[in-house]
Order: sequence, then structure tokens, then C-alpha cells
Amino acid sequence: MRAENATSVVDGNAAAGMLWDVFGADVTALTGVCGGCGAAAPVAETVVELDDTAAIVRCRSCTHTLFTVLRGPEGARLVVGTLRELVRR
Ligand SMILES: [Zn+2]
Repeated sequence: MRAENATSVVDGNAAAGMLWDVFGADVTALTGVCGGCGAAAPVAETVVELDDTAAIVRCRSCTHTLFTVLRGPEGARLVVGTLRELVRR
């Protein structure tokens, strides 16, 4: 793997920029509910595999992919995985 393609494993805070590209807002404080295991936790506390073009956001409890954010020439998109709910408390 070349250095410029390196993927780093971080938390949801580090994906805030890419999430902003999709939502136009900071959603890291929202609570995501996992459809795999039912865990509810702030987006900021998820496990994120991050590189320049994608952020794979995983449930910290069961490691299922909650959603993936892709950033390319045509813009940003969010592909929903096992995310069941996004809740503002
Ligand atoms: Zn889960």
C-alpha cells in the first residue's frame, strides 16, 4: 500500500469534514443506532476507516458498517449500511 493511499483508523470526529460535505452540518453529536446490534452511540464515537476518498463508519460494538461516505469528482455521497436511526437528542 502506498503512503498516499494509507487508511487510518480513527473515530467519528475525524470524519466530521466528510460528513459535512454530505449533510452541510456537523452530525457527529447525533446518536446513531446500529441495526446490527442495537447499540446507540454518538457518531463521534464510531470507529472510522478513513482515507482521502472514503470514510467507512463502523459500529464500535459489533463492527458492522453503519454507513460509508464517498467523496469524488461528482460530489459526496452517503451509502447507508446497517444504520437504523440517526437521532438528535
Ligand atoms: Zn452494532
